Amino acid sequence: MAGYSGLRIFSEGLRGNSGWRPAWRKPEPKREYDVIVVGGGGHGLATAFYLAEVHGITNVAVLEKGPIGLGNTGRNTTIVRSNYLLPQNHHFYEHSLKLWEGLEQSLNYNVMMSQRGVINVFHNDAQRNAAIRRGNAMRLAGIDAVLLDGAGVKAMCPLLDISNGRFPVMGGLLQPRGGTARHDAVAWGFAHAADARGVDILEHCEVTGMIVEGGAIRGVRTTRGEIRAPKVGLAVAGSTSLLTEMAGFRVPIESHLLQAFVSEGLKPMIDCVVTFGAGHFYISQSDKGGLVFGGGLDGYPSYGQRGTLREAEHVYAAGVSMIPALGRLRGLRSWAGIMDMSPDGSPFICRTPVRGLYMTAGWCYGGFKATPGSGWCHAWTIARDEPHALNAAFTLDRFREGRMIDERGNGPFHWMH
Ligand SMILES: Cc1cc2nc3c(=O)[nH]c(=O)nc-3n(C[C@H](O)[C@H](O)[C@H](O)COP(=O)(O)OP(=O)(O)OC[C@H]3O[C@@H](n4cnc5c(N)ncnc54)[C@H](O)[C@@H]3O)c2cc1C
Repeated sequence: MAGYSGLRIFSEGLRGNSGWRPAWRKPEPKREYDVIVVGGGGHGLATAFYLAEVHGITNVAVLEKGPIGLGNTGRNTTIVRSNYLLPQNHHFYEHSLKLWEGLEQSLNYNVMMSQRGVINVFHNDAQRNAAIRRGNAMRLAGIDAVLLDGAGVKAMCPLLDISNGRFPVMGGLLQPRGGTARHDAVAWGFAHAADARGVDILEHCEVTGMIVEGGAIRGVRTTRGEIRAPKVGLAVAGSTSLLTEMAGFRVPIESHLLQAFVSEGLKPMIDCVVTFGAGHFYISQSDKGGLVFGGGLDGYPSYGQRGTLREAEHVYAAGVSMIPALGRLRGLRSWAGIMDMSPDGSPFICRTPVRGLYMTAGWCYGGFKATPGSGWCHAWTIARDEPHALNAAFTLDRFREGRMIDERGNGPFHWMH
């Protein structure tokens, strides 16, 4: 498979771009692989890439029921950061952010990584204290964090109304290395790089059943026939509980709706990512000029990939409170994804009760930034049949043992995280 380079683009330009080949092959399924990864979103493709790249395991298939990257990977608002309070989370997400920082070179693909800074604004003393605590925890772990006052926030995002009568902005916690990446390109880049290392990416190949014998996984049944493997990894986000049900066990995951919105294209007006602290709203601007924004969950479990007007209204109202200029904005599109919500808001990258069956799931609405880190740790766990230190806490049995990783202190409610 040919690589991409400036020289290649130049030479293809000279011969009418006639030499480009598809970024990945469309192979027929083999009867047997060393590892099957179910789910061709970012996490599944990253798992396959790191299995090949780090562990030398290349006889791998990624099974995707549709085309790759059309699940949450292609539906999210593209924010990448590692500004977490709890050590289990910030060490993992920082590892992921470091992988992001070198991802374009590792994949030989432009994922449009843009470290433009992420600011969480706060509006009162309690929020300020929480931001200081989180920033200090990050800095103690070697992660960048800067406390801004109101003027500092205004300097970075001049359209913000910091003297809003109801929700004045006191300041913000900035992570300068946070930012955005192009979501589709992340799926395509991992697919391209995994394929180049020998991985078979099997699109339109839905898993319809699990072959479990004597408590161990032996393979899967699919719409393209039975495929055998001694190890299977699940990376199916909001469909996780459906797949584990096929394997005969239940997981503490609820599938909820989360919406995203994009506006008409505008001249540059916001060159960082900023989140509102007095309602569910966050915003950034894409390279095409559209404002990309979102809020919280719609609040009830669903597999629909479209949202409700109630949450849309809240998002627009919170947006106008923070940036009054948005009042004249024309929305272009909105959609929703199926979030795999865990009870404490933290993920699972672990073995399961079925031997040889592994999973990465429970990413809630924060899994895009986790994509390389999740794939890296999932691949490690599959290859060695044991977790890496970075994902050792992300187990299914942490609730039974009282070791919740409740980043936001919301308690054991899926819809609150
Ligand atoms: C609106 C929205 C905004 C978000 N914003 C952010 C953000 O700004 N930052 C952030 O970090 N995270 C964000 N997220 C979360 C993030 O998108 C997800 O956590 C992450 O993309 C999950 O990736 P994935 O590869 O696990 O899932 P997916 O991309 O959903 O991939 C799972 C794949 O599994 C496939 N599949 C399911 N069942 C089967 C089956 N039976 N057989 C074969 N294949 C199957 C699906 O078709 C799908 O392609 C957002 C999510 C949404 C919906």
